[in-house]
Amino acid sequence: MSVIDVKNIHRIFETGAGFNHVLRGVSLTVNKGEFVAIMGPSGSGKSTLMSILGLLDTPTTGTYRLEGVDISTLSDDDLSFVRGRRIGFVFQSFNLLPRATVLRNVMLPLAYAEVDRREREPRAIRALTAVDIAPDHFDHLTNELSGGQMQRVAIARALVSDPAIILADEPTGNLDSATGEMVMQTFERLRDRGKTIVLITHDPNVAARADRALHILDGRLADGAFSGGGRVGGTLGTRTGDGTAATAVNLRPIASFAPVSDTSLPSRIPEV
Ligand code: ADP
Ligand code: MG
Repeated sequence: MSVIDVKNIHRIFETGAGFNHVLRGVSLTVNKGEFVAIMGPSGSGKSTLMSILGLLDTPTTGTYRLEGVDISTLSDDDLSFVRGRRIGFVFQSFNLLPRATVLRNVMLPLAYAEVDRREREPRAIRALTAVDIAPDHFDHLTNELSGGQMQRVAIARALVSDPAIILADEPTGNLDSATGEMVMQTFERLRDRGKTIVLITHDPNVAARADRALHILDGRLADGAFSGGGRVGGTLGTRTGDGTAATAVNLRPIASFAPVSDTSLPSRIPEV
């Protein structure tokens, strides 16, 4: 069974200036244990797609099955529940709590997920060990770490709830190439252990490390399936509209889908 099964999704934002038709019929299947990279120029819809894959936003039309579940059947509460337990996020800017220890940062998602208190620390230690953070760093504050260490702690935080997928949006974007290399080795090792990873990058060298690299342009994805001819870009359609052609699709609003705001975490930080 595929972990991610996206069929013909469109995402149209309604703005003061009119409609912005950002995703234009994206289909994507990712199997368990696959490491997929998505590349594309700025503004092509990468983060919009990531937000949908991460249940932070919902498509205007089209279907998304996550681990076999059609997410359009889920309530907002169910969506947050699934997001907290089945999805791990890694961001370009790490998004760690700066004045909390490494261990506490990694335990935090387990507190949100209401995992038994006694399990939190051993699970966090296992996740940190999996990304090669040495035990003598566990009680450091995260703002004392190097960029590469911060990103590996962030990966441990994404891993700790044993998610179905790890979504990484430009995870090496703020790192020098040697440090980025270490972070990529970490992702590769996780893939070798059966983790499913979708990673966005601008860097072709980073994308080349994935099992498959997909290219997104003007909201359309050229799948690995199209790359048999050797040139992925060759199958991309040219942009025909001006970004306002919302009438081109049959708008079928999904009533229960209030798009979630830009954060998956509640503002109150629970004790861990
Ligand atoms: P990328 O990550 O590839 O740089 P994004 O997915 O962030 O691109 O954005 C793609 C397009 O979608 C941009 O034109 C952006 O302005 C637009 N967009 C993204 N989010 C919204 C939103 N909430 N409302 C309106 N337009 C949006
Ligand atoms: Mg982006």
